[in-house]
Amino acid sequence: MSLLAVYAHPDDEAFGTGGTLARYAAAGVDVHLICATRGESGKITDPEIDAGTDLGALREQELRDACHALGIAEPIFLGFHDSGRHERTRYDDPKALMNVDEFELEAAIRPWISELGPQVMLTFDPHGGYGHIDHIRIQRAATAAFWSAGSVTARPPRRLYYNAMSLERMRQIQETRREGPMAHLDPGLYAVSEDSFAAVLDVSPWLGAKEKAIRSHRSQVGPRSSFAGSRDGQEGWRAFMGRETFSLGGVRGAFPQPPVDDLFAGL
Ligand SMILES: [Zn+2]
Repeated sequence: MSLLAVYAHPDDEAFGTGGTLARYAAAGVDVHLICATRGESGKITDPEIDAGTDLGALREQELRDACHALGIAEPIFLGFHDSGRHERTRYDDPKALMNVDEFELEAAIRPWISELGPQVMLTFDPHGGYGHIDHIRIQRAATAAFWSAGSVTARPPRRLYYNAMSLERMRQIQETRREGPMAHLDPGLYAVSEDSFAAVLDVSPWLGAKEKAIRSHRSQVGPRSSFAGSRDGQEGWRAFMGRETFSLGGVRGAFPQPPVDDLFAGL
């Protein structure tokens, strides 16, 4: 069995799906991660990291460390550039994900589907979690590649899941983190009803690996990040991080009565 997760930046894999990736790796599934960029336009949130650091090289290593923590294969980098946000937006960079042709991005993903033959693929939901342009671009390209793989490989993937957030969870994040990418989003638009989940996974046994993976992204979860302090004093942290939720982005063949507690249920 094989699982392929497709994301835009180092750390995209850790928060919403780190437990899932660790769980399937522990179960003997070949778990692979495509990362479209090296996250080179991120913000350094740890003051102990020198401001002149090559952020792309640092975040590449952080992702390698996170993958080791999760017990999954070495990450696959597609070599595009992080588009950045706010004052860091790379409007003029032709390799920034926001400027890359969508077919080119889809075409960069598809050979990996042919080579790895995953039954299950994972990516963002159509909002890209919180609307980051790179998340939206990779979500569209991964979805397109899921479908177009059917014409170029004999064993196309059977299921595509979107990492989606419930209304309750988004409200909970907004209560505990007054700043950050989710702070000003309307949960009614960006989150989904619990009823729409195709899969709900209890990943609490793999919470240690998930936390270690999150901490591997040191440049992103430092004292100046919106994530800082969210763990301390937050009641129910384990319950919160130990549950990962997915809606269905695509399916080939039958699907059991949702929500399933195993992404491969019935395969
Ligand atoms: Zn991201």
